[in-house]
Amino acid sequence: AQERYASIREVDCVSKCGARVNLFMNAGLMADLPSLEGSGAEGVGLFRTELQFLVRSQMPRRGELSALYARVLDSAQGKPVVFRTLDIGSDKVLPYMKKIDEPNPALGWRAIRVGLDKPGVMRMQLQALIRAACGRELSIMFPFVAQYDEYRAARAEVDKALAREERLGHTLPEKLEVGAMLETPSLAYAPMKFFEEVDFISIGGNDLKQFFFAADRENELVRRRYDTLNVSFLSFIERIVERCNIAGTPLSFCGEDAGRPIEALCLAAMGLRSLSMRPASIGPVKSLLMRSDLGQVRKQIHDARHRGDQSVRPALMRWLAEEGS
Ligand code: PEP
Ligand code: MG
Repeated sequence: AQERYASIREVDCVSKCGARVNLFMNAGLMADLPSLEGSGAEGVGLFRTELQFLVRSQMPRRGELSALYARVLDSAQGKPVVFRTLDIGSDKVLPYMKKIDEPNPALGWRAIRVGLDKPGVMRMQLQALIRAACGRELSIMFPFVAQYDEYRAARAEVDKALAREERLGHTLPEKLEVGAMLETPSLAYAPMKFFEEVDFISIGGNDLKQFFFAADRENELVRRRYDTLNVSFLSFIERIVERCNIAGTPLSFCGEDAGRPIEALCLAAMGLRSLSMRPASIGPVKSLLMRSDLGQVRKQIHDARHRGDQSVRPALMRWLAEEGS
C-alpha cells in the first residue's frame, strides 16, 4: 500500500486551498521507527512510552530507558519526536505493579494522576529523557491532563529534573518543550493562562471522544455508537482550535481518527494543522487532503449543522462522490 503513495511521499501536504498540514506518525516500539523513512512522516507526533514498560517482566532501569530513548532520537535524525510520559492505569496495567481494583478504571487512577501521586517512575523517566537528548531538542508530553494545576505540577517536575541533571554535570537539551494531551473535555475550558503557558497541546481523540459521549472505547456495545463526525464533536474540536489560536499554542491531534482520511479531512477543515497517525495512514490521508479545498469542506460541515444533521458524514460522502474525490 505504501508503494501507491510513493510519488507523494516526499511532497509537503498542502491542500488545494493552500493550507499546509503537518503529518506525523505515532510510534511506541523501536520496530516502528523504520517507518519514519518509508511513510514520509515529518516526525513522531506521539511516542507511547508505556509499551516499553508493558513488554517487560520488571521495571526497566533508568540506564536502559535512556539508551532506548537515545536510539529513538538517533533514528529520527533530527526530525521532532514527542515523548509521552507513562500512560498506565485503566486498561494498561504493569505486571510488576500492584493491581488496584477500581469500579471505573477508565475514570480512575491513571496516567498523570499516577505520575503525580507516585512520582518515582516519572522522575526516572524524565531523567532518562534528558540524558537521552544529551543536548538535542526534547519534547515531552503529559497524558490525561484534566486541569491546569496538573500541568503546572508536571512542569515543576520537569524543572526539578533539569536542575538535578545540571547539578550532576549532564548536558541539558538545547530546547525543551513540555506539552499536554487534551483527552478530557474539562481541559478545553481551562483558564486561558493554561493555553498561554503550555508549549503545545495534542488532542488524544480516542479518550476525548469516549469522555465527550460518555461511551467506553473498549465496550463493543457502545464504542461505535457515536460518530467522530457528529456535529457536536466537531464543534467542540473547533472550539479547542479557536482557544489555541487565540493563545498562539501549537495544536495537534493524535488519536486514531487522525489516520482515517474522511475524519482527517474534517479535522483539517476545523482548523487542525498537525495530525499524528499510524504510519500506513499517512499516504491515504495526504492524498485526500491534497485534493481537497478545506473551505468547501467547512461549508459542508456548517450546512450539516444548520440542517440539524446529527453527523456530517452522509452529506459529506455524497458531496465527495459528486466532486469525484
Ligand atoms: C488518545 O487517547 O487518543 C491517545 C492518542 O492515547 P491512547 O490511545 O494511547 O490512550
Ligand atoms: Mg489516551
